[in-house]
Formats: sequence, C-alpha cells, structure tokens
Amino acid sequence: MTAQLLNGKQLAADIRSRLKEKIAGFAAAPGLAVILVGNDPASEIYIRAKQKACAEIGIRAEAFHLPENTSQAELTHLINRLNNTPEINGILVQLPLPRHLNEKEILLAVAPEKDVDGFHPYNAGSIIQKRAGAFAPCTPKGILRLLDTTGKDLNGLNAVIVGRSQIVGMPAAHLLLNRNCTVTITHSHTQNLQKICQTADILIAALGKSEFITGEYVKPGAIVIDVGINRTENGLKGDVNFAEAAEIASYITPVPGGVGPMTIAMLLENTCEAFFKQHRS
Ligand code: NDP
Repeated sequence: MTAQLLNGKQLAADIRSRLKEKIAGFAAAPGLAVILVGNDPASEIYIRAKQKACAEIGIRAEAFHLPENTSQAELTHLINRLNNTPEINGILVQLPLPRHLNEKEILLAVAPEKDVDGFHPYNAGSIIQKRAGAFAPCTPKGILRLLDTTGKDLNGLNAVIVGRSQIVGMPAAHLLLNRNCTVTITHSHTQNLQKICQTADILIAALGKSEFITGEYVKPGAIVIDVGINRTENGLKGDVNFAEAAEIASYITPVPGGVGPMTIAMLLENTCEAFFKQHRS
C-alpha cells in the first residue's frame, strides 16, 4: 500500500476529548433530542452509537422512540415542543422516516438554530450563500476535516463526488466549492464516470455500492474519501475497493474507521456549537 491512511477514528477521538473539556467548563450540559420513528434495525444501531458518544463527553441525549404509525401531526407536535424547550439545544430526526411521513416537511419543522444535522433548508441554503454560523451536515463537514489533516492546499484542486444526495454528495460539493475546488458532481445518469473520476485530485465516493470504485477510477496521487457503508456477506465494505485504490492514491480513508466516526464527532460538535450559541443569547 502506498497511500497514507486518513485516520478518522483518531481524529474523531481528538475532537471528542476537546469538546468534553469545553463542556466541563459549563454549569449546564448541552441537550440533544434524538427522535426515532419505527424499528429500522440500522437506525437503532446508529441512534445507540450517537447516544453513547453523547454520554461520553457530557451531552445529555434524550431519546424519543415513537411507534411506526406515528402521524405527521404527532411528530410535528413533538418537534415544536422541543423547539420551545430551552434545555434542548439540538434536535436530530433519524432518517429514513417511515414512508407515510413527509420527510421534507418534518425537517422543515426543526428550528434552524437547533438543526444540528444541518438538513433544514435554511442551513442548506446558508452553506451555498456562505452565511456564517450555519450548521453544515455532519458527514460532509467531517470529510472536510479529514481533507485538512493532509495539510494540502485544496485551492484549485479538482474534486469529483460520486453521489448527489442531500445529506452527503450535494453539501460536500458546496463545502468544497467554498474552499475553491473545481467540483464535479456525478450520479447514476452520469456518462463516462470512470473517465471523470480519473481527473479527480479529490475523489469522494458516496453512492452506496460496495467496492464500486476500483483502481481504474483513481488518478495517481489522488486523495480518496470513502463514505460508503455497505453490509455484505464479507463484512462491512466501503464504496471503494480499498486494496486497489490504496496502491494508487496518496491518501485514503478506511472503512470502518474513516468517515463514519467523523460523522458522529461532527454531530457532537454541532450540538456543542448550538449549546454555546444559545447559552450566549
Ligand atoms: P443515497 O442512496 O441517498 O444516494 C446515492 C447517490 O449515489 C445518488 O445520488 C445516486 O444517483 C448515486 N449513484 C448510485 N449508483 C450510482 C452509480 N452506479 N454511478 C454513479 N452514481 C450512482 O445515498 P447516501 O448519500 O445517503 O449514502 C451513500 C453511501 O454513504 C451509503 O453507503 C451510506 O450508507 C453511506 N453513508 C455513510 C455515512 C457515514 O457516516 N460514513 C453517512 C451517510 C451515508 P441518483 O441521484 O441519480 O439516484
């Protein structure tokens, strides 16, 4: 392997311990409401990991586990109540929601100043308009932190993002554009994907297809960020064929231990920022 590993696990641990120290200086603890509707097993695992991470650094995570048949009105009512609860500084609605619920409307109900996931249109738009103080979504924010650990100047680099979801691909594109990268967003209709990826100084794989990005997609010396989490019969796999890409890239994130831990660390950071801001006002 020639690429250097971008160790998200270690970086996330450093961020968590810094946040823990900061929180300890306050008399009150930040409060995060974690809302889960239904019994999706993967969501339950994610929620438990987030709650555990909160507890470890002194964030009070309050879980609201609602039944599968919760109505739009009931969920909106809970969110409104939490919006008006001063002890709750951040609100997280675990996605995906059951199909009968209108996800866009639910995310709109969360007060932007408590939207620590960064999914509210106000925060999404603020990233595009480069407004200070907006919450960036946790996964793309974590990706930028990982890129910064390379010490490379991102200015002018070609970034190619495979995937255009609202939670990963699109916000990652805007954050990279704000850092003066030349950004190409690709998706399932993209033609000549391999050729486009070969132009990437920074290649971000967020398509949800196990080991789809093979060595042929990677430009020599590229920084490869693997967002994918795919549970396969051979264990947890990313969207990148790690063994192949690691022979060609200059830096690469592993799965697990790359982007995943950074997503949780950024959720904690956003929750602390919400708490500090609300404390000041
Ligand atoms: P989505 O399913 O919402 O989006 C996938 C995107 O990939 C879509 O834009 C889709 O295109 C595109 N795509 C699918 N197939 C191809 C293809 N063959 N070629 C090019 N583009 C393609 O996924 P998410 O963004 O939510 O997640 C992506 C991956 O990242 C998943 O494995 C998920 O588990 C993981 N993830 C990991 C996180 C972490 O913390 N590490 C956090 C969030 C997600 P189109 O728009 O045309 O359909």
